[in-house]
Amino acid sequence: MTGNIPDDKIQLMREGVDILELVSRYVQLKRSGANHVGLCPFHTEKTPSFSVNPGRQIFKCFGCGVGGDAFEFLMRIEGLSFPEAALRIASEMGIDIEERRLSPEEERRRQEHESLQRVNAIAAEFFHRQLLDAPQAEDCRQYLNRRGYGRTSATEYQLGYAPDRWDALTKHLQQQGVDPAEARTLGLIRRREKSQGDYDLFRGRLIFPIHDLSGRIVAFGGRILGEGQPKYINSPESPIYHKGQVLFGLYAARQAIRQAAEVVLVEGYFDQLALARAGVNNVVATCGTALTVEHAQLLKRYAKRVLLLFDDDKAGRAATFKSMELLLPTGLETAVIELEVGEDPDSFLQKHGKEVFAAQLQAARPVIELFMEDRLSAAPSGAAGVSRAAQQVLEMLVLLPNPLEVDLSLKELARRTEIEVDLLRQQLEQIKSQLLERSARQKRVPAPRLEETVPLPSEPAAEQQRALTPADAKLLKLLIFEPDVRQQIVEQEVETFFFDAASCALATELIRQLQDVASGQELTRLQQRPELLERLPQPLLYDPAEYAGAGRQMLESYQQKTADRRRRQQLKGYS
Ligand SMILES: [Zn+2]
Repeated sequence: MTGNIPDDKIQLMREGVDILELVSRYVQLKRSGANHVGLCPFHTEKTPSFSVNPGRQIFKCFGCGVGGDAFEFLMRIEGLSFPEAALRIASEMGIDIEERRLSPEEERRRQEHESLQRVNAIAAEFFHRQLLDAPQAEDCRQYLNRRGYGRTSATEYQLGYAPDRWDALTKHLQQQGVDPAEARTLGLIRRREKSQGDYDLFRGRLIFPIHDLSGRIVAFGGRILGEGQPKYINSPESPIYHKGQVLFGLYAARQAIRQAAEVVLVEGYFDQLALARAGVNNVVATCGTALTVEHAQLLKRYAKRVLLLFDDDKAGRAATFKSMELLLPTGLETAVIELEVGEDPDSFLQKHGKEVFAAQLQAARPVIELFMEDRLSAAPSGAAGVSRAAQQVLEMLVLLPNPLEVDLSLKELARRTEIEVDLLRQQLEQIKSQLLERSARQKRVPAPRLEETVPLPSEPAAEQQRALTPADAKLLKLLIFEPDVRQQIVEQEVETFFFDAASCALATELIRQLQDVASGQELTRLQQRPELLERLPQPLLYDPAEYAGAGRQMLESYQQKTADRRRRQQLKGYS
């Protein structure tokens, strides 16, 4: 069993899936002997080093080292977990792996989601047709034209228009036989307070559809035409829409983001469209909500670096620094693109064109640098003001995962404030230990799920380490740094992966410690447990290439080897 999917079904998929067809949807491939080659979608290259072998049903990039089977490819390119990728392949192959596996409650929820998505699709189609053809949408079409969007872009981005009436959508949904309760759940319509019936949420607005990672429309954003308040309204949260987890444009941009390993984060729908239209495809928008931890983690599935492009006003700055606090701890490199005061991406591009904008992208500066500048320039002059600002900067430096960057920033801060760098360093350490203390206090609240804490064997650390086989050491690292490996080990039980009791105990304890940790924060968490840390393979460096391409098969081979060792041991016992 892997997740909820029976092994025989996985076997069936593995044998039946056409990896060539799957990869060809994303990569242009050319035949070359037994292989098909093309440009790698996982790194930027000019000559093809990416190769698919349909006979063996595998792919491999000789440039960046990524490789694996069809599941692995789909997981990487779409940012899916193994069960998600398997589900998708299964549904395309017509293999039914859900039916018997879902509990009645899960099945009810699945049907509800499907049904809600259908309602959104009907609404999206209605809005879109209105925009393209309805006489009353003329103002909206002109508005779009003024911003440079014609019929083609309206179609490409599935834009829509909500008529300026109380019941246009309500009536349409009725005619389509939609259950009004479902439309209410989605927030598309609301019950009238004083009379019978419902009224539309979106009226007289330009409509942007918001997609989830499978490309389904889960919500809408509506912009007022001309002046008036509120400028934007969005669908409320619903069973299929959690705004903290959805980013506008991510579905369309995800491959460009992965390829560049970089994502530009903007605030508005039009910023996103303007950049996409100018050929900057790795762009997503927060659409009116503040960035969340979930957003940051979502971005980390696709990118290594985030470029923040917010308005250059007080609110924009505040949003930039708020986002910084969420992004830095995930290990995402974070930089800021600065435009001239009063410009947004749309107006900037129209005025200066793509090349100048590309130069601005290149010139993006580390967010911590900007934060330092901002705090110090805002600080009242005098010792108290400067030291307060320095303190604020140090509190952010604690979040930087890269010690080199911390060091450089400390020196820069020392230079600007004329505070001794050693003093700043001391202060930084103090902030760090206060944070650790605080999180240790919070941790004393008993952790959920994995109930018992397996006591660690009490041998000295050196002996422990000698006890770790190279295979166990490697797997422990994977367990620490690859959340999906950790998940699989939890699901399939530690003992099937690790051979001896000490490794099993160590793995169990690591799982317990890391169960609620954000990806990228594993090391920070473990640093709070020095006695655990010293039992781990040293140095605890992790190279993602150790895992790249191996995925699930690698884990299966660990299980196989462990099972073999157990069998040999049992045989020995008999002889
Ligand atoms: Zn590659």
